[in-house]
Amino acid sequence: MTDHPGRKRRGSPIQIDPEEFRKLGHEAVDLIAAYLGGIESAPVTKGHTPSSARAIVGDGPLPQGPTPAGPLLRGIAGTLVGHSLHNGHPRFLGYITSSPAPIGAIGDLIAAAVNPNVGAFTLSPVATIIEEQTIRWIAELIGYPEDCGGILVTGGNMANLVCFLAGRRSVFPADAPQRGIGADGRQYRIYVSGETHTWIEKAADISGIGTDAIRWIPTDAGQRMDAAALERSIADDRSRGDIPLMIVGTAGTVATGAVDPLGAIATIAKRHECWFHVDGAYGAFAAALPEASDDLRALSRADSVAVDPHKWLYTPLDCGCALVRDRALLREAFHRQPSYYRFTGEPGDEPTNFYEFGPQNSRGFRALKVWLGMRQAGRDGIVGMIRSDIALADSLRDALAAHPEIETRTKELSIVTFRYVPPGFGDGSPGHEEYLNRLNTQLLDRIQGGGELFVSNAVVGGTTLLRACIVNFRTTEADTRAIPEIVAGYGRRIHASLANGGD
Ligand SMILES: *Cc1c(COP(=O)(O)O)cnc(C)c1O
Repeated sequence: MTDHPGRKRRGSPIQIDPEEFRKLGHEAVDLIAAYLGGIESAPVTKGHTPSSARAIVGDGPLPQGPTPAGPLLRGIAGTLVGHSLHNGHPRFLGYITSSPAPIGAIGDLIAAAVNPNVGAFTLSPVATIIEEQTIRWIAELIGYPEDCGGILVTGGNMANLVCFLAGRRSVFPADAPQRGIGADGRQYRIYVSGETHTWIEKAADISGIGTDAIRWIPTDAGQRMDAAALERSIADDRSRGDIPLMIVGTAGTVATGAVDPLGAIATIAKRHECWFHVDGAYGAFAAALPEASDDLRALSRADSVAVDPHKWLYTPLDCGCALVRDRALLREAFHRQPSYYRFTGEPGDEPTNFYEFGPQNSRGFRALKVWLGMRQAGRDGIVGMIRSDIALADSLRDALAAHPEIETRTKELSIVTFRYVPPGFGDGSPGHEEYLNRLNTQLLDRIQGGGELFVSNAVVGGTTLLRACIVNFRTTEADTRAIPEIVAGYGRRIHASLANGGD
Protein backbone atom coordinates (compact mmCIF):
# COMPACT_ATOMS: atom_id res chain seq x y z
CA MET A 1 0.00 0.00 0.00
CA THR A 2 1.27 3.49 -0.72
CA ASP A 3 0.46 6.82 0.83
CA HIS A 4 -2.50 8.58 -0.68
CA PRO A 5 -0.92 11.30 -2.81
CA GLY A 6 -1.56 14.78 -1.55
CA ARG A 7 -2.89 13.61 1.80
CA LYS A 8 -1.00 15.14 4.66
CA ARG A 9 -0.50 13.06 7.75
CA ARG A 10 -1.22 14.46 11.14
CA GLY A 11 1.89 14.35 13.29
CA SER A 12 1.31 11.62 15.84
CA PRO A 13 3.82 9.91 18.12
CA ILE A 14 2.25 6.53 17.41
CA GLN A 15 2.24 6.76 13.62
CA ILE A 16 4.70 4.62 11.66
CA ASP A 17 5.17 5.45 7.98
CA PRO A 18 4.69 2.60 5.52
CA GLU A 19 8.38 2.57 4.55
CA GLU A 20 9.50 2.37 8.15
CA PHE A 21 6.81 -0.22 8.92
CA ARG A 22 8.17 -2.40 6.14
CA LYS A 23 11.70 -2.16 7.58
CA LEU A 24 10.66 -2.78 11.17
CA GLY A 25 8.34 -5.60 10.14
CA HIS A 26 10.99 -7.38 8.06
CA GLU A 27 13.43 -7.10 10.92
CA ALA A 28 10.90 -8.56 13.36
CA VAL A 29 10.00 -11.37 10.97
CA ASP A 30 13.71 -12.24 10.48
CA LEU A 31 14.09 -12.39 14.22
CA ILE A 32 11.04 -14.64 14.64
CA ALA A 33 12.25 -16.96 11.86
CA ALA A 34 15.63 -17.29 13.59
CA TYR A 35 13.87 -17.90 16.92
CA LEU A 36 11.68 -20.65 15.49
CA GLY A 37 14.63 -22.13 13.61
CA GLY A 38 16.71 -22.56 16.75
CA ILE A 39 14.03 -23.07 19.39
CA GLU A 40 15.19 -26.57 20.37
CA SER A 41 18.76 -25.49 21.12
CA ALA A 42 17.75 -22.97 23.81
CA PRO A 43 16.75 -24.05 27.34
CA VAL A 44 12.97 -24.55 27.71
CA THR A 45 13.07 -21.91 30.43
CA LYS A 46 15.61 -20.01 32.44
CA GLY A 47 13.50 -20.52 35.54
CA HIS A 48 13.20 -16.82 36.37
CA THR A 49 11.88 -15.59 39.69
CA PRO A 50 9.69 -12.46 39.72
CA SER A 51 12.66 -10.40 40.93
CA SER A 52 15.07 -11.72 38.29
CA ALA A 53 12.43 -11.16 35.58
CA ARG A 54 11.82 -7.63 36.92
CA ALA A 55 15.56 -6.96 36.78
CA ILE A 56 15.51 -7.80 33.07
CA VAL A 57 12.36 -5.86 32.13
CA GLY A 58 13.15 -2.93 34.43
CA ASP A 59 10.71 -1.28 36.75
CA GLY A 60 11.02 2.41 35.95
CA PRO A 61 8.06 4.76 35.51
CA LEU A 62 6.42 5.37 32.13
CA PRO A 63 8.95 7.43 30.16
CA GLN A 64 7.93 11.05 29.70
CA GLY A 65 9.01 11.32 26.09
CA PRO A 66 8.89 9.08 23.00
CA THR A 67 11.14 6.11 22.21
CA PRO A 68 12.10 5.30 18.62
CA ALA A 69 10.24 2.19 17.41
CA GLY A 70 13.29 0.35 15.99
CA PRO A 71 15.37 0.02 19.17
CA LEU A 72 12.18 -0.50 21.18
CA LEU A 73 11.06 -3.50 19.11
CA ARG A 74 14.56 -4.97 18.85
CA GLY A 75 15.03 -4.68 22.60
CA ILE A 76 11.79 -6.25 23.66
CA ALA A 77 12.03 -9.04 21.08
CA GLY A 78 15.46 -9.94 22.45
CA THR A 79 14.11 -9.91 26.00
CA LEU A 80 11.18 -12.16 25.13
CA VAL A 81 13.20 -14.61 23.06
CA GLY A 82 15.95 -14.77 25.65
CA HIS A 83 13.95 -15.00 28.86
CA SER A 84 10.60 -16.65 28.18
CA LEU A 85 9.39 -20.14 28.89
CA HIS A 86 9.24 -21.55 25.35
CA ASN A 87 6.14 -23.68 24.98
CA GLY A 88 7.14 -24.19 21.35
CA HIS A 89 10.23 -26.12 22.57
CA PRO A 90 10.08 -29.84 21.71
CA ARG A 91 10.67 -30.72 25.37
CA PHE A 92 7.93 -28.49 26.74
CA LEU A 93 5.43 -31.08 27.96
CA GLY A 94 4.02 -29.19 30.91
CA TYR A 95 0.34 -28.51 31.19
CA ILE A 96 -1.74 -28.52 28.08
CA THR A 97 -0.32 -25.48 26.42
CA SER A 98 0.56 -26.33 22.88
CA SER A 99 3.38 -25.37 20.59
CA PRO A 100 1.94 -22.44 18.63
CA ALA A 101 1.33 -22.81 14.89
CA PRO A 102 3.63 -20.29 13.15
CA ILE A 103 0.90 -19.32 10.68
CA GLY A 104 -1.14 -18.12 13.67
CA ALA A 105 1.56 -15.61 14.52
CA ILE A 106 1.38 -14.14 11.03
CA GLY A 107 -2.41 -14.24 11.22
CA ASP A 108 -2.39 -12.24 14.44
CA LEU A 109 -0.21 -9.59 12.81
CA ILE A 110 -2.63 -9.26 9.91
CA ALA A 111 -5.67 -9.33 12.22
CA ALA A 112 -4.23 -6.58 14.41
CA ALA A 113 -3.33 -4.44 11.40
CA VAL A 114 -6.81 -4.62 9.84
CA ASN A 115 -8.41 -4.60 13.30
CA PRO A 116 -12.00 -5.65 12.57
CA ASN A 117 -14.33 -5.39 15.55
CA VAL A 118 -16.00 -8.80 15.51
CA GLY A 119 -18.74 -7.67 17.89
CA ALA A 120 -21.06 -6.82 15.00
CA PHE A 121 -21.24 -7.88 11.36
CA THR A 122 -21.36 -4.32 10.06
CA LEU A 123 -18.05 -3.61 11.76
CA SER A 124 -16.37 -6.81 10.55
CA PRO A 125 -18.16 -8.32 7.56
CA VAL A 126 -15.51 -10.76 6.34
CA ALA A 127 -14.09 -11.43 9.80
CA THR A 128 -17.55 -12.31 11.17
CA ILE A 129 -18.08 -14.82 8.37
CA ILE A 130 -14.61 -16.29 9.05
CA GLU A 131 -15.45 -16.68 12.74
CA GLU A 132 -18.79 -18.35 11.87
CA GLN A 133 -17.00 -20.68 9.49
CA THR A 134 -14.31 -21.48 12.07
CA ILE A 135 -16.94 -22.40 14.65
CA ARG A 136 -18.75 -24.58 12.12
CA TRP A 137 -15.51 -26.33 11.17
CA ILE A 138 -14.69 -26.99 14.83
CA ALA A 139 -18.15 -28.49 15.38
CA GLU A 140 -17.85 -30.57 12.22
CA LEU A 141 -14.36 -31.77 13.19
CA ILE A 142 -15.47 -33.13 16.57
CA GLY A 143 -18.79 -34.52 15.33
CA TYR A 144 -21.05 -31.89 16.91
CA PRO A 145 -24.13 -30.55 15.04
CA GLU A 146 -22.92 -27.93 12.59
CA ASP A 147 -25.98 -25.73 13.03
CA CYS A 148 -25.13 -25.18 16.69
CA GLY A 149 -24.47 -21.73 18.15
CA GLY A 150 -20.96 -20.84 19.12
CA ILE A 151 -18.46 -18.16 19.88
CA LEU A 152 -14.72 -17.84 20.23
CA VAL A 153 -13.54 -16.65 23.62
CA THR A 154 -10.23 -16.47 25.45
CA GLY A 155 -9.91 -20.09 26.50
CA GLY A 156 -11.41 -23.09 28.22
CA ASN A 157 -12.49 -21.27 31.33
CA MET A 158 -14.48 -18.69 29.41
CA ALA A 159 -15.86 -21.24 26.94
CA ASN A 160 -17.09 -23.38 29.82
CA LEU A 161 -18.56 -20.32 31.53
CA VAL A 162 -20.43 -19.25 28.39
CA CYS A 163 -21.90 -22.78 28.04
CA PHE A 164 -22.72 -22.80 31.74
CA LEU A 165 -24.63 -19.52 31.46
CA ALA A 166 -26.53 -20.83 28.44
CA GLY A 167 -27.44 -23.93 30.47
CA ARG A 168 -28.57 -21.77 33.37
CA ARG A 169 -30.74 -19.75 30.98
CA SER A 170 -32.44 -22.92 29.80
CA VAL A 171 -33.58 -23.90 33.27
CA PHE A 172 -34.19 -20.62 35.05
CA PRO A 173 -37.58 -18.97 34.95
CA ALA A 174 -38.01 -16.43 32.17
CA ASP A 175 -37.92 -13.51 34.61
CA ALA A 176 -34.67 -14.62 36.28
CA PRO A 177 -32.56 -12.09 34.34
CA GLN A 178 -34.68 -9.32 35.93
CA ARG A 179 -35.35 -10.74 39.37
CA GLY A 180 -32.01 -12.38 39.88
CA ILE A 181 -31.45 -15.90 40.99
CA GLY A 182 -32.84 -17.13 44.24
CA ALA A 183 -36.02 -15.11 43.80
CA ASP A 184 -37.90 -18.34 43.10
CA GLY A 185 -36.54 -19.95 46.26
CA ARG A 186 -35.55 -23.10 44.43
CA GLN A 187 -32.35 -25.02 45.10
CA TYR A 188 -30.45 -25.82 41.90
CA ARG A 189 -27.85 -28.59 41.68
CA ILE A 190 -24.81 -29.08 39.49
CA TYR A 191 -23.17 -32.52 39.09
CA VAL A 192 -19.46 -32.83 38.40
CA SER A 193 -16.66 -35.23 39.30
CA GLY A 194 -13.77 -34.36 41.56
CA GLU A 195 -11.54 -34.38 38.46
CA THR A 196 -13.39 -31.41 36.94
CA HIS A 197 -11.28 -28.33 36.23
CA THR A 198 -11.62 -25.40 38.66
CA TRP A 199 -13.58 -23.34 36.15
CA ILE A 200 -16.68 -25.01 37.63
CA GLU A 201 -16.16 -23.27 40.95
CA LYS A 202 -15.60 -19.92 39.27
CA ALA A 203 -18.75 -20.45 37.15
CA ALA A 204 -20.88 -21.47 40.14
CA ASP A 205 -19.69 -18.35 41.93
CA ILE A 206 -19.94 -15.87 39.02
CA SER A 207 -23.37 -17.18 38.01
CA GLY A 208 -24.69 -16.63 41.53
CA ILE A 209 -25.63 -20.29 41.91
CA GLY A 210 -22.89 -20.78 44.48
CA THR A 211 -20.37 -23.58 44.96
CA ASP A 212 -22.58 -25.23 47.61
CA ALA A 213 -24.88 -26.25 44.73
CA ILE A 214 -22.14 -28.51 43.37
CA ARG A 215 -22.49 -32.26 43.92
CA TRP A 216 -19.06 -33.90 43.67
CA ILE A 217 -19.69 -37.30 42.14
CA PRO A 218 -17.07 -39.95 42.92
CA THR A 219 -14.84 -41.41 40.22
CA ASP A 220 -13.82 -44.98 39.43
CA ALA A 221 -10.25 -46.34 39.46
CA GLY A 222 -9.68 -44.71 36.07
CA GLN A 223 -10.64 -41.20 37.33
CA ARG A 224 -13.92 -41.36 35.37
CA MET A 225 -17.23 -40.19 36.78
CA ASP A 226 -19.22 -43.04 38.37
CA ALA A 227 -22.46 -42.91 36.38
CA ALA A 228 -24.41 -45.02 38.88
CA ALA A 229 -23.43 -42.65 41.70
CA LEU A 230 -24.48 -39.72 39.51
CA GLU A 231 -27.90 -41.22 38.95
CA ARG A 232 -28.36 -41.87 42.69
CA SER A 233 -27.34 -38.33 43.57
CA ILE A 234 -29.81 -36.81 41.10
CA ALA A 235 -32.63 -39.05 42.31
CA ASP A 236 -31.86 -38.06 45.91
CA ASP A 237 -31.94 -34.37 45.08
CA ARG A 238 -35.15 -34.64 43.10
CA SER A 239 -36.90 -36.44 45.91
CA ARG A 240 -35.95 -33.50 48.12
CA GLY A 241 -37.40 -31.05 45.58
CA ASP A 242 -34.06 -29.70 44.34
CA ILE A 243 -33.68 -28.95 40.66
CA PRO A 244 -30.89 -30.71 38.75
CA LEU A 245 -29.54 -27.89 36.60
CA MET A 246 -26.55 -29.37 34.86
CA ILE A 247 -24.25 -32.35 34.59
CA VAL A 248 -20.70 -31.64 33.54
CA GLY A 249 -18.73 -34.43 31.90
CA THR A 250 -15.09 -34.04 30.99
CA ALA A 251 -13.47 -35.23 27.77
CA GLY A 252 -9.83 -35.33 28.86
CA THR A 253 -9.49 -34.48 32.55
CA VAL A 254 -6.80 -32.08 33.68
CA ALA A 255 -4.83 -34.51 35.81
CA THR A 256 -4.72 -37.64 33.68
CA GLY A 257 -6.69 -37.04 30.46
CA ALA A 258 -9.49 -39.43 31.47
CA VAL A 259 -12.72 -39.33 29.48
CA ASP A 260 -15.91 -39.59 31.52
CA PRO A 261 -18.55 -42.12 30.36
CA LEU A 262 -20.21 -39.44 28.26
CA GLY A 263 -22.72 -41.81 26.63
CA ALA A 264 -24.06 -43.03 29.97
CA ILE A 265 -24.11 -39.47 31.31
CA ALA A 266 -26.04 -38.26 28.24
CA THR A 267 -28.69 -40.89 28.87
CA ILE A 268 -29.01 -39.91 32.53
CA ALA A 269 -29.21 -36.23 31.60
CA LYS A 270 -32.01 -36.94 29.16
CA ARG A 271 -33.92 -39.02 31.67
CA HIS A 272 -33.80 -36.21 34.22
CA GLU A 273 -34.24 -33.35 31.71
CA CYS A 274 -30.99 -31.90 32.83
CA TRP A 275 -28.51 -29.83 30.79
CA PHE A 276 -25.51 -31.92 29.74
CA HIS A 277 -22.31 -29.98 29.27
CA VAL A 278 -18.99 -31.45 28.15
CA ASP A 279 -15.71 -29.81 29.06
CA GLY A 280 -13.63 -30.91 26.12
CA ALA A 281 -11.07 -28.11 26.38
CA TYR A 282 -8.26 -30.57 25.74
CA GLY A 283 -9.73 -33.89 24.67
CA ALA A 284 -12.70 -32.98 22.44
CA PHE A 285 -10.51 -32.64 19.37
CA ALA A 286 -9.49 -36.30 19.71
CA ALA A 287 -13.12 -37.13 18.86
CA ALA A 288 -12.11 -36.28 15.28
CA LEU A 289 -10.08 -39.51 15.11
CA PRO A 290 -11.92 -42.41 13.45
CA GLU A 291 -10.54 -44.64 16.22
CA ALA A 292 -11.93 -42.39 19.00
CA SER A 293 -13.74 -44.23 21.79
CA ASP A 294 -17.54 -44.32 21.90
CA ASP A 295 -17.38 -42.44 25.19
CA LEU A 296 -15.48 -39.59 23.58
CA ARG A 297 -17.75 -39.49 20.55
CA ALA A 298 -20.80 -39.27 22.78
CA LEU A 299 -19.92 -35.58 23.26
CA SER A 300 -22.12 -35.15 20.18
CA ARG A 301 -25.11 -35.71 22.51
CA ALA A 302 -24.23 -32.81 24.82
CA ASP A 303 -26.27 -29.61 25.06
CA SER A 304 -23.01 -27.68 25.06
CA VAL A 305 -19.31 -28.35 24.58
CA ALA A 306 -16.27 -26.24 25.40
CA VAL A 307 -13.11 -26.75 23.33
CA ASP A 308 -9.76 -25.01 23.27
CA PRO A 309 -8.21 -24.32 19.87
CA HIS A 310 -5.15 -23.13 21.82
CA LYS A 311 -4.65 -26.72 22.91
CA TRP A 312 -4.97 -29.41 20.23
CA LEU A 313 -5.46 -27.09 17.25
CA TYR A 314 -2.12 -25.45 18.05
CA THR A 315 -3.59 -21.95 17.86
CA PRO A 316 -1.30 -19.42 19.55
CA LEU A 317 -2.76 -18.19 22.84
CA ASP A 318 -5.41 -17.37 23.41
CA CYS A 319 -8.52 -19.04 22.02
CA GLY A 320 -11.36 -21.13 23.42
CA CYS A 321 -14.63 -22.00 21.73
CA ALA A 322 -18.09 -22.46 23.24
CA LEU A 323 -20.55 -24.59 21.28
CA VAL A 324 -24.24 -24.69 22.23
CA ARG A 325 -26.61 -27.06 20.44
CA ASP A 326 -29.53 -24.61 20.56
CA ARG A 327 -28.26 -21.49 18.83
CA ALA A 328 -31.34 -19.45 19.68
CA LEU A 329 -30.88 -20.26 23.36
CA LEU A 330 -27.24 -19.11 23.34
CA ARG A 331 -28.39 -15.83 21.82
CA GLU A 332 -31.19 -15.53 24.35
CA ALA A 333 -28.64 -15.88 27.17
CA PHE A 334 -26.65 -12.86 26.01
CA HIS A 335 -28.86 -10.80 23.69
CA ARG A 336 -29.49 -7.18 24.56
CA GLN A 337 -30.76 -4.42 22.28
CA PRO A 338 -29.18 -1.09 23.12
CA SER A 339 -30.62 2.00 21.47
CA TYR A 340 -27.24 2.82 19.94
CA TYR A 341 -26.94 -0.36 17.86
CA ARG A 342 -28.77 -0.89 14.59
CA PHE A 343 -27.24 -4.11 13.32
CA THR A 344 -30.28 -5.85 11.93
CA GLY A 345 -29.79 -6.57 8.21
CA GLU A 346 -32.31 -7.81 5.67
CA PRO A 347 -34.92 -10.52 6.37
CA GLY A 348 -33.53 -13.82 5.13
CA ASP A 349 -29.99 -12.47 5.19
CA GLU A 350 -29.61 -11.61 8.86
CA PRO A 351 -26.09 -11.10 10.12
CA THR A 352 -24.54 -12.74 13.15
CA ASN A 353 -23.60 -10.08 15.66
CA PHE A 354 -21.26 -11.86 18.02
CA TYR A 355 -21.85 -9.38 20.85
CA GLU A 356 -25.23 -11.14 21.24
CA PHE A 357 -23.65 -14.58 21.72
CA GLY A 358 -21.32 -13.97 24.64
CA PRO A 359 -20.38 -11.54 27.38
CA GLN A 360 -18.00 -9.45 25.27
CA ASN A 361 -18.98 -6.39 23.26
CA SER A 362 -16.01 -5.22 21.21
CA ARG A 363 -14.15 -8.31 20.07
CA GLY A 364 -10.86 -8.87 18.28
CA PHE A 365 -10.35 -11.07 15.24
CA ARG A 366 -9.34 -14.13 17.28
CA ALA A 367 -10.75 -16.42 14.60
CA LEU A 368 -8.14 -15.70 11.94
CA LYS A 369 -5.27 -17.55 13.59
CA VAL A 370 -7.54 -20.58 14.16
CA TRP A 371 -8.96 -20.51 10.65
CA LEU A 372 -5.51 -20.27 9.07
CA GLY A 373 -4.15 -23.20 11.07
CA MET A 374 -7.19 -25.34 10.28
CA ARG A 375 -6.96 -24.58 6.58
CA GLN A 376 -3.21 -25.08 6.45
CA ALA A 377 -3.43 -28.56 7.99
CA GLY A 378 -6.87 -29.61 6.77
CA ARG A 379 -8.88 -32.30 8.51
CA ASP A 380 -6.34 -35.01 7.65
CA GLY A 381 -3.48 -32.90 8.94
CA ILE A 382 -5.24 -32.14 12.23
CA VAL A 383 -6.22 -35.78 12.76
CA GLY A 384 -2.68 -36.90 11.91
CA MET A 385 -1.10 -34.47 14.39
CA ILE A 386 -3.39 -35.52 17.23
CA ARG A 387 -2.89 -39.19 16.42
CA SER A 388 0.89 -38.85 16.43
CA ASP A 389 0.84 -36.96 19.75
CA ILE A 390 -1.10 -39.88 21.24
CA ALA A 391 1.36 -42.38 19.72
CA LEU A 392 4.31 -40.41 21.11
CA ALA A 393 2.71 -40.48 24.54
CA ASP A 394 2.56 -44.29 24.18
CA SER A 395 6.29 -44.39 23.38
CA LEU A 396 7.01 -42.09 26.28
CA ARG A 397 5.04 -44.32 28.64
CA ASP A 398 6.94 -47.37 27.32
CA ALA A 399 10.32 -45.66 27.67
CA LEU A 400 9.49 -44.56 31.22
CA ALA A 401 8.12 -47.98 32.17
CA ALA A 402 11.32 -49.63 30.91
CA HIS A 403 13.45 -47.54 33.29
CA PRO A 404 14.11 -49.41 36.55
CA GLU A 405 13.84 -46.25 38.67
CA ILE A 406 10.60 -44.92 37.19
CA GLU A 407 7.08 -46.06 37.90
CA THR A 408 4.39 -45.15 35.38
CA ARG A 409 0.85 -44.65 36.60
CA THR A 410 -1.59 -43.57 33.86
CA LYS A 411 -1.69 -42.92 30.12
CA GLU A 412 -4.83 -41.39 28.62
CA LEU A 413 -5.01 -39.49 25.31
CA SER A 414 -1.56 -37.85 25.24
CA ILE A 415 -0.94 -37.52 28.99
CA VAL A 416 1.45 -39.82 30.88
CA THR A 417 1.85 -39.74 34.66
CA PHE A 418 4.80 -41.29 36.46
CA ARG A 419 7.14 -40.88 39.40
CA TYR A 420 10.74 -41.48 40.38
CA VAL A 421 11.35 -44.35 42.82
CA PRO A 422 14.99 -44.79 43.99
CA PRO A 423 16.65 -48.15 43.22
CA GLY A 424 16.01 -50.82 45.84
CA PHE A 425 13.43 -48.67 47.54
CA GLY A 426 11.23 -51.41 48.96
CA ASP A 427 7.74 -50.37 49.83
CA GLY A 428 5.81 -51.13 52.96
CA SER A 429 8.21 -49.22 55.19
CA PRO A 430 6.57 -46.54 57.32
CA GLY A 431 6.67 -43.15 55.63
CA HIS A 432 7.42 -44.72 52.26
CA GLU A 433 4.70 -42.90 50.34
CA GLU A 434 5.26 -39.61 52.12
CA TYR A 435 8.93 -39.81 51.27
CA LEU A 436 8.23 -40.47 47.60
CA ASN A 437 5.73 -37.60 47.50
CA ARG A 438 8.35 -35.30 48.98
CA LEU A 439 11.04 -36.53 46.61
CA ASN A 440 8.82 -36.16 43.55
CA THR A 441 7.65 -32.68 44.56
CA GLN A 442 11.28 -31.57 44.71
CA LEU A 443 11.95 -33.39 41.46
CA LEU A 444 9.21 -31.38 39.76
CA ASP A 445 10.74 -28.10 40.94
CA ARG A 446 14.22 -29.13 39.81
CA ILE A 447 13.03 -30.26 36.39
CA GLN A 448 10.93 -27.13 35.89
CA GLY A 449 13.83 -24.87 36.80
CA GLY A 450 16.47 -26.87 34.93
CA GLY A 451 15.60 -25.92 31.35
CA GLU A 452 16.19 -29.38 29.81
CA LEU A 453 12.63 -30.57 30.07
CA PHE A 454 9.38 -29.12 31.34
CA VAL A 455 6.73 -31.36 32.87
CA SER A 456 3.93 -30.59 35.33
CA ASN A 457 2.42 -32.54 38.20
CA ALA A 458 -0.72 -34.42 39.11
CA VAL A 459 -1.95 -35.79 42.39
CA VAL A 460 -3.79 -39.07 41.80
CA GLY A 461 -5.26 -40.86 44.81
CA GLY A 462 -2.97 -38.91 47.13
CA THR A 463 0.16 -39.80 45.14
CA THR A 464 2.33 -37.00 43.77
CA LEU A 465 3.13 -37.74 40.16
CA LEU A 466 4.92 -36.03 37.32
CA ARG A 467 2.81 -35.46 34.27
CA ALA A 468 3.92 -35.14 30.65
CA CYS A 469 1.36 -33.82 28.17
CA ILE A 470 2.29 -34.14 24.53
CA VAL A 471 0.41 -31.40 22.72
CA ASN A 472 3.46 -30.48 20.74
CA PHE A 473 4.10 -31.04 17.04
CA ARG A 474 7.83 -30.49 17.60
CA THR A 475 8.36 -33.34 20.08
CA THR A 476 9.99 -36.44 18.54
CA GLU A 477 10.86 -40.01 19.51
CA ALA A 478 14.38 -38.82 20.31
CA ASP A 479 12.88 -36.56 22.99
CA THR A 480 10.72 -39.28 24.49
CA ARG A 481 13.75 -41.62 24.60
CA ALA A 482 15.88 -39.01 26.40
CA ILE A 483 13.29 -38.15 29.06
CA PRO A 484 13.59 -41.17 31.42
CA GLU A 485 17.29 -40.59 32.06
CA ILE A 486 16.81 -36.84 32.55
CA VAL A 487 14.18 -37.58 35.18
CA ALA A 488 16.23 -40.33 36.85
CA GLY A 489 19.37 -38.16 36.89
CA TYR A 490 17.63 -35.41 38.88
CA GLY A 491 15.83 -38.04 40.97
CA ARG A 492 19.07 -39.70 42.09
CA ARG A 493 20.63 -36.40 43.12
CA ILE A 494 17.59 -35.38 45.14
CA HIS A 495 17.39 -38.80 46.80
CA ALA A 496 21.08 -38.57 47.71
CA SER A 497 20.64 -35.10 49.19
CA LEU A 498 17.51 -36.13 51.13
CA ALA A 499 19.38 -39.20 52.44
CA ASN A 500 22.10 -36.81 53.66
CA GLY A 501 19.56 -34.94 55.70
CA GLY A 502 18.83 -32.23 53.12
CA ASP A 503 15.29 -31.14 52.43
C1 LIG B 1 -7.15 -26.43 29.92
C2 LIG B 1 -8.43 -26.86 30.47
C3 LIG B 1 -9.32 -25.94 31.02
C4 LIG B 1 -8.99 -24.48 31.17
O1 LIG B 1 -8.80 -23.91 29.91
P1 LIG B 1 -8.05 -22.51 29.76
O2 LIG B 1 -7.91 -22.39 28.31
O3 LIG B 1 -6.76 -22.67 30.50
O4 LIG B 1 -8.92 -21.48 30.38
C5 LIG B 1 -10.53 -26.40 31.48
N1 LIG B 1 -10.84 -27.71 31.41
C6 LIG B 1 -9.99 -28.63 30.89
C7 LIG B 1 -10.41 -30.06 30.83
C8 LIG B 1 -8.75 -28.24 30.42
O5 LIG B 1 -7.92 -29.15 29.90
